[in-house]
Amino acid sequence: MGMFDSVYVPCPKCNTEAEFQSKGGDCCLENYTLKDVPNNVLSDINRHSPKVCSECGESFYVKVKQEKPAIRQYDNFIERTIRQRIEVVIGKPNDDSDDDDEEDDW
Ligand SMILES: [Zn+2]
Repeated sequence: MGMFDSVYVPCPKCNTEAEFQSKGGDCCLENYTLKDVPNNVLSDINRHSPKVCSECGESFYVKVKQEKPAIRQYDNFIERTIRQRIEVVIGKPNDDSDDDDEEDDW
């Protein structure tokens, strides 16, 4: 068994917290919630998704939407703000029926 970090995500149906494991970060057995999870941990959060809720049996995963970066240019530097929207979604990753994502890989 390797090391990983844990992110506690509430079930969208009954609100029971489920543990999502990620190897995207430093893997120091840290515990996070969706409010404080670092980006690198978040990037791997669906490695075991969908998660089945131990309470109600619903399957769900965490969907991260990258919004377009806001770029502001100053005299000698460029500021790039990347915003993410995190949603907890019922279902399996990759079966987006309402797909309005434009996923640019960058
Ligand atoms: Zn549940």
